[in-house]
Amino acid sequence: MPRIEWGRVVMRPDTNVDTGWMDQAACKDEPTELFFFDERIERKRVAEAKAVCDRCPVWKKCLDYAIETPVDFGIWGGFTSRERERHRWSKRGVKDDKAKRPQNGS
Ligand code: SF4
Repeated sequence: MPRIEWGRVVMRPDTNVDTGWMDQAACKDEPTELFFFDERIERKRVAEAKAVCDRCPVWKKCLDYAIETPVDFGIWGGFTSRERERHRWSKRGVKDDKAKRPQNGS
């Protein structure tokens, strides 16, 4: 899980699961507030965070991690907490296809 260090996202490898993918995260040195805020009212910020996730080479691993952990806040894998919750309860799961990801907090 990421942690906050001097106002930036610092990916902290979890010792119980494979988190080697965090080294490749596009958000590694981005400001923390870019991913953690009240998603229900700050729709523009959701789009800004998702733009970073769109260029992230490990977005699917990030999403799986956030869904399986589970992480209940912040943007992970290009999904808001509400979007992850929907997928958590979905029988379909999430396909490894960026085109299937919700856009701009939908
Ligand atoms: S998908 Fe987004 S939140 Fe996850 S590691 Fe990549 S940039 Fe960070």
